[in-house]
Amino acid sequence: MDLLNTLVDKGLRREVPTREEALAVLATSDDELLDVVAAAGKVRRAWFGRRVKLNYLVNLKSGLCPEDCSYCSQRLGSKAEILKYTWLKPDDASKAAAAGVAGGAKRVCLVASGRGPTDKDVDRVSETISAIKEQNEGVEVCACLGLLSEGQAERLRAAGADAYNHNLNTSEATYGDICTTHDFADRVDTVQQAQAAGMSACSGLIAGMGETDADLVDVVFALRELDPDSVPVNFLIPFEGTPLAEEWNLTPQRCLRILAMVRFVCPDIEVRLAGGREVHLRSLQPLALHLVNSIFLGDYLTSEGQAGKDDLAMIADAGFEVEEAGTATLPAHRRDAAGPAEACGAEPADGAPAAVPAPAEEARRNLVAVRRRGAGTDLPPNA
Ligand code: SF4
Repeated sequence: MDLLNTLVDKGLRREVPTREEALAVLATSDDELLDVVAAAGKVRRAWFGRRVKLNYLVNLKSGLCPEDCSYCSQRLGSKAEILKYTWLKPDDASKAAAAGVAGGAKRVCLVASGRGPTDKDVDRVSETISAIKEQNEGVEVCACLGLLSEGQAERLRAAGADAYNHNLNTSEATYGDICTTHDFADRVDTVQQAQAAGMSACSGLIAGMGETDADLVDVVFALRELDPDSVPVNFLIPFEGTPLAEEWNLTPQRCLRILAMVRFVCPDIEVRLAGGREVHLRSLQPLALHLVNSIFLGDYLTSEGQAGKDDLAMIADAGFEVEEAGTATLPAHRRDAAGPAEACGAEPADGAPAAVPAPAEEARRNLVAVRRRGAGTDLPPNA
């Protein structure tokens, strides 16, 4: 297929595909799926070998957010029955992080619900970063605290944060459909503040919110322009009690095409398979390892993932290897350009999302498991 040969050549040269080429990847048929995965897999292996970086989420503060992001179980007015708790103490956060590191995670992602941190919150998180770094030698720490105010990125960097995550989530044109309390430009600004402070930028997207192929390509090209070191790709987890609870738009094949498109547009960037992989890729998860070079281990912020040991078994069974602590994630040319953290990153013709039969009510409940263990509970974490 000429398209795929062209995209592999461009990926190996780190050349950006055209929008038309990116759209064409999303429009490939199920008959072509393995060819698409194989082509994007060549690009993945050229820059990242068969390594899989593991990342571990610690939800420092859960629920009760004043913002109204429609996809989020922690949003204003969410009726999702998630864990709700205020800031974890540094020692408790460090214990949760240690479980992830013991499970093989190189990076710990400290996340807090909310529009953005107060200066006091930055102090708290700085203490938590110190506790984690003291107790887990060599671990990378990424903070994800929402929109940053002036000076906060510099303070987090000084406290030892290697990276900062803030996702663009969807295209600029549709951002107002998923959130009214902040906008796309606010998000871009925070990613740029993190970069300017010397942190490795992590910024990604959520697919499956009813967006068109053009929206997906737009957000991935916007990310490429921002040039983060890592791009997490989330697939919407349609939580009961949120406005997007009925958005079951994804098939495993569609998820693979999206990941392949992201890989072609971001050939040498850490592409991370993030929330929703168990729910939407299901038994095709191992194929995604040919496209991404990074995943989250264990549970997500408010939902449970598959058992950490099953993640490790999947990686081994698929012929990949967990990236070790001393190994650089990014290729040398990106490390040279990066900040101190280094390692951190069949549609209808009208472009509307294809209709996918929604899983039955009971099956939906089984697919989305609200987190009831780990951070904020007395039960051991999943790592
Ligand atoms: S700001 Fe963050 S925690 Fe709050 S609703 Fe949006 S995504 Fe959820």
